[in-house]
Amino acid sequence: MLVTGKQILDHANEHGYAVGAFNINNMEILQAVIMAAEKENSPVIVQTSEGAIKYAGIEYFEALVHLAANKTKVPVCLHLDHGTTYNTIISCIRHGWSSVMIDGSHHDLKGNIAVTSEIVKVAHAVGVSVEAELGRLSGIEDQISVSEKDAIYTNPDEAVEFVNATGVDSLAIAIGTAHGKYKGEPKLDMERLDTIKKMLKMPIVLHGASGITEAQITEAVKLGVNKINIDTDVRQAFTDGVRKVIETKPEEFDPRKICGPARDLMCEVVASKMRMFGSSGQAWTL
Ligand SMILES: [Zn+2]
Repeated sequence: MLVTGKQILDHANEHGYAVGAFNINNMEILQAVIMAAEKENSPVIVQTSEGAIKYAGIEYFEALVHLAANKTKVPVCLHLDHGTTYNTIISCIRHGWSSVMIDGSHHDLKGNIAVTSEIVKVAHAVGVSVEAELGRLSGIEDQISVSEKDAIYTNPDEAVEFVNATGVDSLAIAIGTAHGKYKGEPKLDMERLDTIKKMLKMPIVLHGASGITEAQITEAVKLGVNKINIDTDVRQAFTDGVRKVIETKPEEFDPRKICGPARDLMCEVVASKMRMFGSSGQAWTL
């Protein structure tokens, strides 16, 4: 069933677990994510980036994800990851996305509040949930000084001001994760997470969580992270699966026999994330 981001994340917040938000780019990735959610009896967030929408077409994702959600009993949310323009976000809302992210994190606090509030007003009018981001994620390296941390990590007082001013349903924070593949081993600022969660009490989102150690993920979930974005690990599983077939059976040319094993591999990866995040067995019914 298709549900909103708020429905999924409020349940996770209330019961102390995190829901995986998996980026999809094609049918096989979507099927792998839904298969894993059913196997684990877990709620799930399927998300599309603006680039993925450009690649597959908005109508394709609308039809595919609505079909998948309607066919399954587990709660499924269709979410726009890193919406940057008003037009994209409104198009997604028109095409049945049940949750959107407005990424105004490159603006200063005032600017971020302004663009986010505008989206919240429209989205909430039609029952669509909104995630926003405060702090900066990109280019975060392993070793960074305290003053650098204060400059780019999410400031707890600003987070309170931001949430009160905008009325967002969930907040992505910067505590040391980065998008893409890590060079060293990232270390998350758990103290900052703890402070922010205690002040906000609302669903907290972690981006760039591929490659974070299981111990740190478990700790972050315990401290109140309720949505964890995973893209890189699933991409890697897809490519590993495809590569294995092409290397071991170079004469193979049937797309089903090339993409099928990749789909199985992605399903395993997604299911293991669900167990790690504590969402396994948490599927609820309306
Ligand atoms: Zn992100």
